[in-house]
Amino acid sequence: MSLEQQQALDATYVMQTYKRKPVEFVRGEGMRLYDDAGTEYLDFLSGIGVVSVGHANPRVTAAIQQQAAKLLQVSNYFSIEGRGELAEKLSGLLNAGENPGTEPWRVFFTNSGTESIEGAIKLAHKYGIRHLEGASTIITAHRSFHGRTLAALAATGQPSKQELFKPLPSGFVHVDINDIHALKTMLNQGFGGKAVCAVLLECVQGEGGVYPCTEEYLRAVRQLTEEHNALLIFDEVQTGFYRTGAYPFAFQQYGVVPDVVTLAKGLGGGVPIGALAAHGIAAEVLEPGDHGSTFGGGPLVVAAANATLDELVAMDAGKHVAEVGAYLRERLESLEQVTEVRGRGLMLGAELRDPIAEAVVEAGLEAGLVLNNIGHHILRFLPPLVCT
Ligand code: PLP
Repeated sequence: MSLEQQQALDATYVMQTYKRKPVEFVRGEGMRLYDDAGTEYLDFLSGIGVVSVGHANPRVTAAIQQQAAKLLQVSNYFSIEGRGELAEKLSGLLNAGENPGTEPWRVFFTNSGTESIEGAIKLAHKYGIRHLEGASTIITAHRSFHGRTLAALAATGQPSKQELFKPLPSGFVHVDINDIHALKTMLNQGFGGKAVCAVLLECVQGEGGVYPCTEEYLRAVRQLTEEHNALLIFDEVQTGFYRTGAYPFAFQQYGVVPDVVTLAKGLGGGVPIGALAAHGIAAEVLEPGDHGSTFGGGPLVVAAANATLDELVAMDAGKHVAEVGAYLRERLESLEQVTEVRGRGLMLGAELRDPIAEAVVEAGLEAGLVLNNIGHHILRFLPPLVCT
């Protein structure tokens, strides 16, 4: 079927929630994508930060093929081959960094980033009921992005995405990142008997325009949340799995350990899997019957995620991302149009002098580059981590 025929079907039968680009990719290999006419592209988006180990990665492909031929779904009523190993690997990665942790993390597997956030919100509310006399307010950041389901959207600090979908769940308040006084003020408020049970932040805001928190700020946030017995939740859906540099997670680049982490994107090498991970008292909160998922952590995605994590370790992803990310940053900074480069590792945003970001993305596509813009002034780079 031609691209034009495909577009016609899409226009009639698919909800028009995206302004799609006029390209149909049918094949990929490493950092390269190929469209239906065989034209080659360099992919600087990786399915929005998902395909970290590259398209058609042989290890991930083999794992999916073998598992697909064996067993696809049994439900969470049963043990699932490879899932304990995957959770143990995740716990190991979450305990990596300069000051490695020793206590195990516990994982709940989801199907997407927004579901990981929903799970974290439920965990935080129950924690508030159990340990903080019913505290249920969650502080998140202006310009943050946590997903499109209702509670995740309420957590998201972007009113323009919320307006048409009210009423949204209540209990979320927003502060500017890197302003510790604003956070302190919020933490001290009672919110009519529903004080703060958790602070939810992205270490580097992604969809909001690639805005990193400072180390000083996150350290102070950790200290304040401890003083208030509030949970600190880091949304690592986009920043996780070596995206931001030498260590598996952004919080490890900052040297600040949260209580709860939400994950997705880079975990499965391209298949839909996410996770919610907690340690310490937060790991004890969710009990049988509290939360569930038909598909979450099923055999196929578990096999893919095990292979993806093995591949990231085998390719020494941390070292590679630190090197290649520094090079990409340096080259972007040298461009006349670029006034600032923000972000870490291979999650970079280039601020442009003129409002030409969309035009650059369009011109890039014609020249064989898959780029992404946020608004008129920001180009965002999320290439597969295998890029050289
Ligand atoms: N959290 C962050 C930080 C994200 O970047 C995203 C998606 O871009 C989400 C949550 C939502 O993830 P998903 O689109 O998989 O539901």
